Amino acid sequence: MEHAGKHALVTGGGTGIGKDVAIALAKAGADVTITGRRADKLDEVAALHERLHPLVMDVSDEVSVRDGIAAAAKARGPVQICIANAGIAEGKPFDQTTLADWRRTMVTNLDGVFLTVQAALATLGPEDAGRMIVISSIAGVRGLKNAVPYTVSKHGVIGLIHGLSEEYLHRPITFNALCPGYVDTAIVRNQLPGLMKRFGVDEDGAIAAIAKGNRSRQLLQVDETTSALMWLCSDGARSINGQTVEISGGQV
Ligand code: NDP
Repeated sequence: MEHAGKHALVTGGGTGIGKDVAIALAKAGADVTITGRRADKLDEVAALHERLHPLVMDVSDEVSVRDGIAAAAKARGPVQICIANAGIAEGKPFDQTTLADWRRTMVTNLDGVFLTVQAALATLGPEDAGRMIVISSIAGVRGLKNAVPYTVSKHGVIGLIHGLSEEYLHRPITFNALCPGYVDTAIVRNQLPGLMKRFGVDEDGAIAAIAKGNRSRQLLQVDETTSALMWLCSDGARSINGQTVEISGGQV
């Protein structure tokens, strides 16, 4: 079991994509620190496996991230696997997007990933191997209308891994981005009422509208993102570095 004994950090590990991969990593033998703002969500997930460790941490707060990750490393060792997954998605036409909307997205999706990856890297010694993975989106590789701040933030994290994969070429650490299409999680479900109103359709109609680019015409499931993430943090993926892996059923 190649993950056994490793310390993995999954931000946003209390729900959705993060929760599913955190459980898979724990079952594979890793000790997994799961973070988020809602303690109740984290505690629910931590109760599912003894190797899941909850940590309340707000990725938009520098002190919270630096202190939180340092404390996790003290308890469980260097962060050898970091999945910077926490994020928010808000939709609005560009001409109605305020500076406050823009900043809210950037501080979570971009600053949060910067802080998380930097703090995780700081726990690794010069010879330590590491897997740093950011969750971007199909919106990181193409434009998503009515979601310009989200699109920019998800392009931004790809820039981050491109830069880091060059800067850390002398170290045994890889930096990659996963770019999922629409996955059936809260972030998508929470947008359905707005889409139903906008398109004048029911819930199935709203799902059909956003899933129409997928070959299956259905939302992706979290086991698909988990499979890709487990591969990206495996020993076999040691030469995959600075890459974007799109998992979108043909949407891009
Ligand atoms: P969820 O809404 O279930 O997960 C988002 C997670 O991020 C939550 O656990 C939330 O926890 C956490 N989070 C949000 N803001 C903060 C913050 N300031 N500090 C700490 N944690 C925070 O949706 P998904 O699982 O789908 O989303 C995970 C990632 O995947 C996101 O980055 C999203 O953009 C990306 N993604 C999702 C897609 C989809 O279709 N579902 C497609 C492409 C990318 P809490 O609220 O408790 O803090």
